[in-house]
Amino acid sequence: MQWNTDIQYLKGVGPKRAAQFGKMGIATVGQLLGLYPRTYIDYSNPTPLASAPYDMPCAVQAEVLSKSAGVRVSGGRSLFKVQCADDTAGLTLTFFNNPYAVKKLEVGQEYLFYGKVGGGFAGREMIAPTFLPASSNAPLTPVYPLTEGLNNYAVSTCVKNALALLQEIPDPLPEFLLKKYRLPTKAEALRKVHNPTTLQEVEEGRRRFIFEELFVLQLGMLLMRGRDIAETGAPMQPLPLSAFYKALPFTLTGAQQRSIDEIAEDMVGKSPMNRLLQGDVGSGKTLVAAAAIYLAAQNGYQSVMMAPTEILAGQHAETLEKTLAPLGINVALLTGSVKGKARKTVLEAIASGQAQLIVGTHAVLSEPVTFKNLGLAVTDEQHRFGVCQRGLLAAKAQRPHLLVMSATPIPRTLALLMFGDLDISVLDEMPPGRKPVKTYAVTGKKRADMFGFLGKQIAAGRQVYVVCPLIEEGESDLQAAAAYAEEVARPLLPKARIGLMHGKLKAADKAEVMRQFKQHELDLLVSTTVIEVGVDVPNATVMVIEDAERYGLSALHQLRGRVGRGAAESYCVLVSDHATEAARERLRFLCRTNDGFEVAKYDLENRGPGDFFGSRQHGLPTLQIADLATDTRVLKAAQAEAIELLKKDPNLSEAPHAPLAAAVEKMFDEQMVMN
Ligand code: ADP
Ligand code: MG
Repeated sequence: MQWNTDIQYLKGVGPKRAAQFGKMGIATVGQLLGLYPRTYIDYSNPTPLASAPYDMPCAVQAEVLSKSAGVRVSGGRSLFKVQCADDTAGLTLTFFNNPYAVKKLEVGQEYLFYGKVGGGFAGREMIAPTFLPASSNAPLTPVYPLTEGLNNYAVSTCVKNALALLQEIPDPLPEFLLKKYRLPTKAEALRKVHNPTTLQEVEEGRRRFIFEELFVLQLGMLLMRGRDIAETGAPMQPLPLSAFYKALPFTLTGAQQRSIDEIAEDMVGKSPMNRLLQGDVGSGKTLVAAAAIYLAAQNGYQSVMMAPTEILAGQHAETLEKTLAPLGINVALLTGSVKGKARKTVLEAIASGQAQLIVGTHAVLSEPVTFKNLGLAVTDEQHRFGVCQRGLLAAKAQRPHLLVMSATPIPRTLALLMFGDLDISVLDEMPPGRKPVKTYAVTGKKRADMFGFLGKQIAAGRQVYVVCPLIEEGESDLQAAAAYAEEVARPLLPKARIGLMHGKLKAADKAEVMRQFKQHELDLLVSTTVIEVGVDVPNATVMVIEDAERYGLSALHQLRGRVGRGAAESYCVLVSDHATEAARERLRFLCRTNDGFEVAKYDLENRGPGDFFGSRQHGLPTLQIADLATDTRVLKAAQAEAIELLKKDPNLSEAPHAPLAAAVEKMFDEQMVMN
């Protein structure tokens, strides 16, 4: 039996089970061993039955007193009851459709059971507990991720068989690294993780796999970057920007001026720019990008600006056109909704160089678009870009300058990982006159009062966004938004003009709803979270977010950034009906601060839902075991070692590195979904 043997030849696995494993992406014996336990059941300290907590999983040790024969119940299922007891109390076990488990339990023997103790008048019970003979000396049982038809016992058995039957376990990590970092070999580590006797062993095994995973990740990132670096650049002259500055309706903030200077310096340098422009929502990133685009155009180069959604692309096109058209720069919008003849015209304008700025979604890069001479690529809120789309960009142009804009503060280590040796400009200063958004956290009981307040704002000529509750199972976001508008908003605000925005709308309809809202033909916009980050409607003064506890703070902060763009006092109301105390505390934190960096820091430290690492927005391969937020020390070591190794073997082509090259390929091929 080899590492790459098809899993169906493993003892205990046939075609059916192989198909079940297949659903989890496991096709070979080696991949099975790469299935890391989610957690471990610790049978080592069983609780006396009398003091076992209700509804919290725990381990108990009890003797089997009697077993019932299976009873057929509705749905053709069979039910088995097993009576047990320890010195303190009795316990009834219930198993559905599992005669095998029941058969293994012998009357008169003691077992360790793990599960939730529940029950009422009839006494304590446990439903479908996992168990071990009390004499067993493996008190730590791995708990694996499962799929339909596969239970933990089946997976554990297969894993144990694989460990016993594998003749050779190849180790991609070079021996000197194992020595240097005191890591176990792959074979040892697998044993420690899958078949541990102590939690200490689990840790030792995990430590090795975390290192391996991060090392492979770093090698992959470095190899991908190396390919870019082989290209040539778009050299530019330091032409004056005074005409650009003169045309602006306001003066730049100090931070904007500094960022523009840094960018201009990069663009006239020898190597291409690779810069992250980081600034909170509303800090004025678009204008900084406009300066860069202007400089590129002065030098005879085209620029492309990519936004995450069509609405945003449309808005950027509009704003940039306002700023740049008077300076003689031709702006073209290319999105999925530009069709037919119009599309042909735009494509021709891009190919001929007549279009000097092309604004679109990232799809611009995957389409058959030919640029005449692309010199600058700007991306807005497109973290995925850092990793996936460089290859596409390289195919369209000779290594253009790259400016990545983000309102989410990206932790330095992650930024390095994603973008390589990138430089960072920070907009740490808001344009003048901006007031902080007053933020309140309320429960659903206050909803009627809140709508009273919305009514007053609308009567005063202001506009309101409401992000409606997250969709329930089986519901579409159209239904969710429509139900909220009709059943909640309409009765409370009968006179308001209410609009709906949701994911099922066609791009053109979305744009129409946004137009109506912008032109104040609507007072209130009920939206699912498709509400576009970055839309600019200065007359909107209130942002209401329902089910607020279910978002990460950074996401809430982004939504809040939709208001507070005009001169009037603005408000954000976070509504949550079912929040735990911890969730409430998170929301209260947001009420106390308007600073996006503080918010992101809090999110990172507290790991709320949708945090930066949890969500896939960074576009890195999914890691099985390492955690970029907490394993930063290992990440740094892995990075240093990866750089060293590639100095010696730049393409990982030497024979001893073949397993590493294969591991890199696997991690990036399987997971780098381009979109
Ligand atoms: P973001 O960084 O969130 O992308 P925007 O670029 O959309 O911010 O800018 C937010 C708003 O601030 C826009 O309406 C823009 O016109 C305005 N703005 C940008 N810079 C300045 C400035 N220096 N002075 C006044 N208003 C500005
Ligand atoms: Mg923006």
